[in-house]
Amino acid sequence: MDLGIRGRRAIVCAASKGLGRACAFALAEAGVDLVICARGAEALDATAREIRARTGVAVTAVRCDVTTEEGRRLLLDACPAPDILITNAGGPPPGDFKDFELDDWRRALEANMLAPIALTRATVYGMMERGFGRILHITSAAVKAPIPMLELSNGARAGLAGAMAVLARKAVRRNVTINALLPGPFDTDRLRATIALQARREGRDPAVVAAERAAAHPAGRFGNPAEFGAFCAFLCSVHAGYVTGQNILIDGGAYPGLL
Ligand code: NAP
Repeated sequence: MDLGIRGRRAIVCAASKGLGRACAFALAEAGVDLVICARGAEALDATAREIRARTGVAVTAVRCDVTTEEGRRLLLDACPAPDILITNAGGPPPGDFKDFELDDWRRALEANMLAPIALTRATVYGMMERGFGRILHITSAAVKAPIPMLELSNGARAGLAGAMAVLARKAVRRNVTINALLPGPFDTDRLRATIALQARREGRDPAVVAAERAAAHPAGRFGNPAEFGAFCAFLCSVHAGYVTGQNILIDGGAYPGLL
């Protein structure tokens, strides 16, 4: 299927690895020129090189922390008028509610709620003027079913979902959609790190813990980031102009409810 977005420009945040990287690749395969970012230069530059070599699109790599104002300024300087915005950042640390200070909450809100809000505000009105835009927030299955030990994530991501609901229904009149993709367990560094942490705590082999978790999943496996990227690219396509304000689970059936 031709996604109809060849020649469009996208900002893809936190895209040197994992889900952000997969979204960047899928958009590039659809012919979208990219500005991608991450804090570490090595993986970022390697990803930019690989995308250019495989797809031929223009890729600008911006080394920055997207959770800071300065980082977002660098990103927007590199691409002041994107047609597509994918927001993403690392997730907050696990822990117990009683151990979180207000500053922990402030950091989680900054990274997983306020940074996406700031980037949306900086780009959505230009998209509306130009008559095309796709904004996609990478959040978490926690929006649908809060996850024990990830209360910082549960709070910040639900806050973002609420903050986008009205704007999404205003912007769609100008062919600008705003949605969130809610990943369940995908095979990325982040998932491998949480499995390693669990294995260390339990004094077990991480490979065994991973195999048990995958086996207990309805799909019998973790998600492949490329599956996430393909879904992202479709939601950014011309064909998805009637999908907005949605928080869409992509979790292989882990969420057991009907709605
Ligand atoms: P990942 O494999 O660890 O990759 C994270 C990427 O984000 C890296 O490229 C990292 O590069 C970049 N990054 C992190 N913090 C950043 C920042 N402040 N500014 C700019 N770039 C930053 O993680 P992932 O699995 O793709 O997860 C992406 C998001 O989805 C996270 O918020 C995670 O909590 C959420 N999520 C993931 C899963 C899953 O199973 N994978 C499930 C639910 C939710 P640098 O470190 O070099 O900056």
